[in-house]
Amino acid sequence: MKHALFSCYFKDGIENFAKELEENGYKIISTGGTLKALEKAGVNVSDVSEFTGFHDMLGGRVKTLHPKIHAGILYRREKPEDVKEIKELGTQPIDIVVNNLYPFKDTYLSGASDDNIIEKIDIGGPSMIRAAAKNFKYTTIITDNADFERVIAEIKENGNTTLETRRDLARKAFMLTAYYDAWIAKYFNEKCGVEFPDEITLPLKKISELRYGENPHQRGFAYTLYNGDESGIGEAKQCQGKELSYNNYNDASATIEMVKLFYKKPTCVAVKHTNPCGIGEADTIHEAYLKAYACDDQSIFGGIVGFNREVDKATAEELVKIFLEVIIAPSYTKEALEVFEKKKNLRVLEVPGISEVRKGGLDMKVLPGTVIMQDHDDKEDCKLNVVSKAHPTDGELEDLIFALKAVKFAKSNAVVLAKDGATVGIGLGNVNRFFAVQAALKQAGDKAKGAVLASDGFFPFDDCIKLLAENGVKAIVEPGGSIKDELSIKAADELGVSLLFSGTRHFKH
Ligand code: 5GP
Repeated sequence: MKHALFSCYFKDGIENFAKELEENGYKIISTGGTLKALEKAGVNVSDVSEFTGFHDMLGGRVKTLHPKIHAGILYRREKPEDVKEIKELGTQPIDIVVNNLYPFKDTYLSGASDDNIIEKIDIGGPSMIRAAAKNFKYTTIITDNADFERVIAEIKENGNTTLETRRDLARKAFMLTAYYDAWIAKYFNEKCGVEFPDEITLPLKKISELRYGENPHQRGFAYTLYNGDESGIGEAKQCQGKELSYNNYNDASATIEMVKLFYKKPTCVAVKHTNPCGIGEADTIHEAYLKAYACDDQSIFGGIVGFNREVDKATAEELVKIFLEVIIAPSYTKEALEVFEKKKNLRVLEVPGISEVRKGGLDMKVLPGTVIMQDHDDKEDCKLNVVSKAHPTDGELEDLIFALKAVKFAKSNAVVLAKDGATVGIGLGNVNRFFAVQAALKQAGDKAKGAVLASDGFFPFDDCIKLLAENGVKAIVEPGGSIKDELSIKAADELGVSLLFSGTRHFKH
């Protein structure tokens, strides 16, 4: 007699499936809660305890953990020794296992008590799933109720599932138990305060099959990492527009990270290819946008614009004047959303967490064959040390702090020229610092006069200071720490500019 064992936390569709299996000659056995649901639907089902001759124990902790169950699943049907042992044990073959697990992840993320979370670690389920998946040559394991249809279709047609289907269902089963255990491991790591364990299993879930990758000839997918506890792109709610592309994900994530640095004042960050092309800080986000736009009114085309305050109608009206890929803000007024509606393709994302500074957490980078990880760069530069004779004015100091934030997530070597809460020249992605300074000055033109500059790394020579002073830059902040710092300080003193050391570099490679 063929048996199908049901033990399901999620019971959608199990009644019909069980009935169809019955019609095709399977005897249905089940654990308690599932049994009740099946009985109610009129399925002729018997309890696993009848099958094993053993009752549930420890409030459900031991239900299916019995040799009769596991031997019934695991025995090799063509092996005489196995068949003999099965007969001696007096058990029956279990050919189909339908099992889905206690909701550990949802319980964990819901903020339930530790006792509650621990109780949601399913033990019997994964054991049965793994047993049936291991013996896929003979047994069919269903962990996803969406697979009922294909299984029953094959049974109706051939009297059994095909080996190919059983192997695929085993694949799904092992992916599920690994994902399930990854969440349990994450919980324990968190409880024990272990951030960089020796082995890491990351619970990644596919959220989207992208049209393509970085380029049309590359495939692209998006997976969420720890959904629910990060205020990153994974949290974004799309209000309108085309689906996010691979490059959108990348650039939108960089935009969110940058905007978060400016949490103190209404700010707008315009991003191209993960780099800032204009940042403005002001009393209103409308004004902040105009400042960001003025920094580089060409590069912003096709870019991503992020805000840390609600976007209003007036700002929305400015935004739709140019072609933008994505707009990101913590929220939008109803009127602003109506303005965006005219541009059907424009992607509008709501990320409430964008207005808060990000503290802690890890960054990781996937290299071919290796992953490198580090703490997120959440150091704020508040203690600036004036090393020159000249001191910055209050206004210059404010701009220096603003420029330091702006330069933080720009690709090295990066420098930012700023004036009155706006970037006026950004030099980035250069292979030496002098080139970066030249690029920023070229972009700023006349706006360099009276501006300040922040550099993500120290100046190895005094040439940058000299060039900046020649162009009217009044104050400069850099980490310091070069063996030639004295030369830079001397040049600053001779040229009457303020030089400050932050003591912290912010490389971004
Ligand atoms: P039911 O609602 O039928 O009483 O229980 C179904 C759930 O119990 C399923 O999620 C299944 O994975 C789980 N389960 C089955 N056998 C065992 C067991 O022996 N121990 C534990 N802890 N869970 C089990």
